[in-house]
Amino acid sequence: MDLTFIGSGDAFATGGRNQTCLLIKDYEKNFLVDCGPAALATLKKNNFDILDIDFILITHLHGDHYGGIPYLLLDYQFESRRTKEINIYGPKGTEEKLKNLQELLFTGHGIETMNFKINFIEFEPNSINHIENYEVRAYLMEHMQDSDCLGYKISNNESSFAYTGDSNWVENIFELSDNTDLFICESSFYRKIENVTHISYEEILENIEYLNTKRLILTHLGSEVLENISNVDIETAYDNLKVRF
Ligand SMILES: [Zn+2]
Ligand SMILES: [Zn+2]
Repeated sequence: MDLTFIGSGDAFATGGRNQTCLLIKDYEKNFLVDCGPAALATLKKNNFDILDIDFILITHLHGDHYGGIPYLLLDYQFESRRTKEINIYGPKGTEEKLKNLQELLFTGHGIETMNFKINFIEFEPNSINHIENYEVRAYLMEHMQDSDCLGYKISNNESSFAYTGDSNWVENIFELSDNTDLFICESSFYRKIENVTHISYEEILENIEYLNTKRLILTHLGSEVLENISNVDIETAYDNLKVRF
């Protein structure tokens, strides 16, 4: 698989980084994991044909992770004129939130008016699912009070990667990252802070010996971790970083 960090920043686009979006290209299939507000512009800047996106997974319903989808769908409707149906996968509530958001941002051009079919598939926490030739394990993370955040482990016969989405440090992260070629972990902070629903670099370091992955990359980098980047001894993502695994 080839994975591009379309966005490696936090919700505040710290350091001018795009908000979260991963593009995965694998033989004939292409998909996004999360789709932050800058995704459409950045995919176009990279000369990626957005019609080649086969499906989209969303980790959780915060705007920096799914706020870019309405612009993508609007482009499909009026500009690139998609006809092929598209599946959008996410936690419970994805369909309702996205339908409301589309109608709010582009009133009169809601999901139901689109000339192509949009299917919503909502994952149960801690479930094993299948999309095309991929096994997608959805692990419950700890981030939002009113809805789930899902960390995904995505594998096919050849390779696998996992991504936390946003979360506190939770036990499920060991299982999520286990036996992966690539593990992408959010690191919004450098130092561990109480009562913050994000992971810090210090927590990752504390647990790194128990993470069974071939390559660990930190993303969703906030201001404090970027200020301390010279002290970070783990690989960090940047916008347009490409990884093959
Ligand atoms: Zn986020
Ligand atoms: Zn979030």
